[in-house]
Amino acid sequence: MKKPTFSSVTDVPCTCNCMACYVDNPNIPVVYDDQDKNYFIDHTGVDGTRVLVLLYHCFFCGGVIFTDVPSISSPRMGE
Ligand SMILES: [Zn+2]
Repeated sequence: MKKPTFSSVTDVPCTCNCMACYVDNPNIPVVYDDQDKNYFIDHTGVDGTRVLVLLYHCFFCGGVIFTDVPSISSPRMGE
């Protein structure tokens, strides 16, 4: 597996399944896009702006959490 970003330190996949547990917990702002097969942090800022931050690595084990998105050369923050 290729590293998902230029700054990733591993290409080892996540096998702990913790991200799915986070999605099931309404107190944790992690969502899953079933169509694109990606996990995001879903946050609404103090000004009401909704921000989705694509996650590349599992919070718990640090493994890569997706395989369908091609590698990118820089973060896409703000898109
Ligand atoms: Zn994991």
